[in-house]
Amino acid sequence: MDKITSEIMGAKKIAIAGHIRPDGDCIGSCTALSLYLNQIKKEFKLDQIDVYLENFGNEYDILSHTKEIKHSYETDESYDLFISLDCGSMDRLGNSRKFFDSAQKTINIDHHISNSKFADINHVVPTASSTCEVLYSIMDDELISKEIAEALYLGIIHDTGVFKHSNTSEYTMQVAGRLISKGINFSVLIDETFYAKTYMQNQILGRCLMESILVLNKKVAVASMNRKMLDFYGASSGDLDGIIDQLRVTKGAEVAVFIYEIQFHEFRVSLRSNGAINVNKIAVYFGGGGHIKAAGCTMNGTVHDVINNLTPHIEAQLKELNLLY
Ligand code: AMP
Ligand code: MN
Ligand code: MN
Repeated sequence: MDKITSEIMGAKKIAIAGHIRPDGDCIGSCTALSLYLNQIKKEFKLDQIDVYLENFGNEYDILSHTKEIKHSYETDESYDLFISLDCGSMDRLGNSRKFFDSAQKTINIDHHISNSKFADINHVVPTASSTCEVLYSIMDDELISKEIAEALYLGIIHDTGVFKHSNTSEYTMQVAGRLISKGINFSVLIDETFYAKTYMQNQILGRCLMESILVLNKKVAVASMNRKMLDFYGASSGDLDGIIDQLRVTKGAEVAVFIYEIQFHEFRVSLRSNGAINVNKIAVYFGGGGHIKAAGCTMNGTVHDVINNLTPHIEAQLKELNLLY
């Protein structure tokens, strides 16, 4: 932490960014850190704090400050310090990679077990529920405003599935309690950013579940969406949140797989485990990563190619654990 503070103290221009196709933890952590740095800006003599993230759904506009986030990368700005949040590897920085490359110093704050420690200073806590939880642990509680608390809380609820995933620890709940004490409207944050669905999102969820299949002796639930379907609904990646969570709770399933086509014959793969199977290991094999029970990667080919390439890896682990037959 001392190293992080001294780098922040020594910088005038800071860029903050997270991973491609940002999720709640990514948006929450970038917003929270930016608000926090703005608060200590004068004392630390910071001139400029910019946040870069890819486009995301308007449900996150509930956080103050998301309007300030930059979605265009067409600038020649270069920064003294680049802070990467919730991002396990350099390639997942997407377009903000150029700010990482040109920065004098880089910091990586994250909680992915697969994190490749790609920055000058790496603060990676795989036992933490979320990057927001890691951020809380390095922030001064007294300086956390209601707005910062909202952003941190949002990240925690998204990565823990509203405190239900096993990454939720006693400390997670203590942090959540502290954040609630700042006067945040947690019910609205949870409903509007996590549970609320548009009609289109509900239709997609229904369709994916209806067309889902069980393979490997019903131990694996698989659903997919091709480009044509996504275009038909006018859906983007944020519209697909929640599908994998519903697949995972299929009775008897050890693993849930959800794949969708990001471009022709290129699929984004989401994997979830109910505990026995290490899906991070599988995602890492295919060039991705994540956590033991929630991981992702990108794979090429048709839907069937992807499923056929993926299942032997799940099968091997199921067999090893005598879970298959
Ligand atoms: P997702 O299925 O996209 O929600 O991802 C599950 C978890 O794995 C999240 O914590 C992601 O940040 C992480 N993850 C997904 N894809 C990758 C990847 N290619 N490399 C590293 N981590 C990933
Ligand atoms: Mn994330
Ligand atoms: Mn996260």
